[in-house]
Amino acid sequence: MNHTHWIATHDAAADAYTEIVGAVNNIRRTIDIAPDIRFIGPCGSVLDDVECTDTLYAIEGSVTARCRTCGTTWDVDQRKQAATTQARYVAATSAFLSQTLAIRDEPLTPDRIRKWAYRGHLTPAGIGPRGHPTYIVAHVARLIRMYENGEKLSPWNQEQETA
Ligand SMILES: [Zn+2]
Repeated sequence: MNHTHWIATHDAAADAYTEIVGAVNNIRRTIDIAPDIRFIGPCGSVLDDVECTDTLYAIEGSVTARCRTCGTTWDVDQRKQAATTQARYVAATSAFLSQTLAIRDEPLTPDRIRKWAYRGHLTPAGIGPRGHPTYIVAHVARLIRMYENGEKLSPWNQEQETA
């Protein structure tokens, strides 16, 4: 799979990344981590076949982030690219997505996500807590971008095939 091509042609994933980081930053404010520290994501460094599970943070404006557990130094921009790719695989329930994403300045309601699914623009990726369907973050972010641009909504796969 060619991730670089996908990142270059799908701004929605970058938007999804921004939204996820925004949501995490809100959580971070709530739990009172120093405000000049930026959430990067799980370290994921593999040493001796063991994956480091510590969470990475970077000083705001810093180009690198050093893991406190394993000492691996990560390039912040590269990590951002990797997270953008991950947005394609991360699935969440409409309840979570509505708390995380927004259309313009309005919350994305679970009702709108359900409507998009009902009309075939979104396909459930799996089943989440309490039997609720989950949707890929990047797919939802892409629909939001299309909606905001006044474009006709289309399912993800259809776009992939015609791209
Ligand atoms: Zn680490």
